[in-house]
Amino acid sequence: MLFPDFARPLMSGINVKTPIALTGGKVYRLTLYPELGRDDRSVLVVGMTLQFQFEEADNGLKWFLSEQRKFVDNAVKAIKSVWDDRWRITTGSTAPHRRLRDVGVLFALKTHIDGWHSDDDFEITVKKVPTGTPDSAEVRYRLGNADMMNSANDARNRGGPTKQRAVVHEFGHMLGLNDEYDTNPDFFDNLRHTPNRSWLSDTESVMNAGERVRARHYVPFATWLTQQLATVAKLTTSDVTYRVDGVWDATNARL
Ligand SMILES: [Zn+2]
Repeated sequence: MLFPDFARPLMSGINVKTPIALTGGKVYRLTLYPELGRDDRSVLVVGMTLQFQFEEADNGLKWFLSEQRKFVDNAVKAIKSVWDDRWRITTGSTAPHRRLRDVGVLFALKTHIDGWHSDDDFEITVKKVPTGTPDSAEVRYRLGNADMMNSANDARNRGGPTKQRAVVHEFGHMLGLNDEYDTNPDFFDNLRHTPNRSWLSDTESVMNAGERVRARHYVPFATWLTQQLATVAKLTTSDVTYRVDGVWDATNARL
């Protein structure tokens, strides 16, 4: 477990660039805190606000408020269980303070049900469908919205060795990551993104058919840290590059 010392933020900003976005990313806030009780590690907290809209498809199935709350609760738990604290982001440079050289990652999700909120990053419409309906989900990154079904928290076989809950895969898109399976994008729909074909055989990956967050998926956070420490690097004429698991950065992640 990682415990950020929320009373002492060290630096913050919005994400600089995500693989999906044509221009600078905009949808999540990054804040670095010291790790509570340690002076040699920090915690990067990735904050995002998700607004859920519960829609009854044209099938007579009603959403009860208790079911809506349970859906949101399960979605947040699923996302955090898959995405939190998977990898360390480190730099080999001794120029930054030592607590800045070894960074863990947590996701802080704020949620709303229905209504209008000015602070939402993604508006997620969830349809209630009959049991057994093949589930489908989509994130329209640049519009900041997404569609899911009430089955999005259920693990389904997607052709890989392990099952996958749609919600944990779609969250990867909300972070700006591309599909890693070979989708057939509709080029007439400019809202849909093209797949990343560099990792087609890695079917356990969360952006493919499984639920494993790979080190490469944290690389946008490492890149952000490298940018934040650019002044320190310049002043000390040292290479302050952050890498995930000591290896992965923007030069080799193939995102
Ligand atoms: Zn996808």
